[in-house]
Amino acid sequence: MCFPIFHAWLTLLFFRLCAVTLRSRPPLVYCASRTARTASLLSAAPQLTQRDETSLEKTNLVSSLSSSHVSDMSTKVAVVTGSNKGIGLSIVRALCKQYQGDVYLTARDTGRGQEAVESLSSEGLKAMFHQLDINDLNSITTAAAFFKDKYGGVDVLINNAGIAFKGGDDDIMSTLPPSLCLSLSSGADTTAFAIQAEVTLKTNFFATRDMLTHFLPIVKAGGRVVNVSSFVGARTLNQCSPDHQQRFRSEDITEEELVGMMQQFVDEAKRGEHKKGGWPDTAYGMSKTGLTTLSMIHARQLSKERPNDGILLNACCPGWVRTDMAGPKAPKSPDEGAITPVYLALLPPGATEPHGKFVSDKEVQPW
Ligand code: NDP
Repeated sequence: MCFPIFHAWLTLLFFRLCAVTLRSRPPLVYCASRTARTASLLSAAPQLTQRDETSLEKTNLVSSLSSSHVSDMSTKVAVVTGSNKGIGLSIVRALCKQYQGDVYLTARDTGRGQEAVESLSSEGLKAMFHQLDINDLNSITTAAAFFKDKYGGVDVLINNAGIAFKGGDDDIMSTLPPSLCLSLSSGADTTAFAIQAEVTLKTNFFATRDMLTHFLPIVKAGGRVVNVSSFVGARTLNQCSPDHQQRFRSEDITEEELVGMMQQFVDEAKRGEHKKGGWPDTAYGMSKTGLTTLSMIHARQLSKERPNDGILLNACCPGWVRTDMAGPKAPKSPDEGAITPVYLALLPPGATEPHGKFVSDKEVQPW
């Protein structure tokens, strides 16, 4: 007699248990788009309803999960050096609007970097942040390990960080018409040329090369690498001795030979003998001649060593841009300066060129 009642009670209990289990399960759709560890972190989040699931993408919970050190191999990632201000910041701004992936604003100073991230946030743009001082090898290797670990590498790398001494006989203005230089060179830096040569090449050439040494191996298939060089480097090339010019332009120059030439320029500048050695009087220009040549060497190496990976690597000039480096009289805004670097960073999948070129205003320039 009691059996039917007991059976009904058991059936009721079974359905209640099922309902509770289903309600407490993590959102399946969301977890499917995340890696296992993120999914398990999410499943630990209590009481998520279907509506929570839809709005999760926009909540702090998700931002903090995705910016923490959690592996996220399927997400594409772009990294921009020296991007707390100037052209670098504009590159990040443009990538935040156009790139389908995470965009990292990096800066040597964490405070300045985070301020820049917040300024973008006030424009409704979401950039991530990682500290990166290209003059500090430890900072470079830490960042490279972070991106390898979290994303399996990088998809876009823009080497933008750079320095220039202001207004002396050695900066961006040194190759502009004298009248224009005069109007711009108030507050000219009087640092000795030997020091300008050593300091400028240390950041613009040697430290950028360190970045490439540690990041090129983790650039993923289909990756894009952009080195922000300068038209000043192209003009400086023409002021070098014919022998130096021939080597910079040759197809068989090696990275080792190039590094030797750059070091020779610095050493001779320190002895006051650089002109005798066939080098012009501009450290900024020489640093960018070296960076463009290095880009061409690396592009040839990539074509040879990773022929099927479809990576495109180029150097570019942003144009003459109003920034702390170039001053207020330059014709282009920082956002306009970002156009060519961003164009190269977003060359579509399957594109085969430009590669190993010097590009300005989206056009390949003679070298
Ligand atoms: P800015 O001086 O405005 O910005 C330079 C950026 O590089 C800053 O964020 C600076 O950081 C950063 N930086 C400098 N040294 C390091 C380092 N060791 N590690 C990490 N970041 C560093 O210059 P621009 O925006 O004008 O220049 C950007 C790039 O464009 C440079 O490579 C420059 O040579 C090139 N360029 C610029 C032109 C122009 O007309 N402006 C023309 C042609 C090329 P911090 O704030 O900490 O100093």
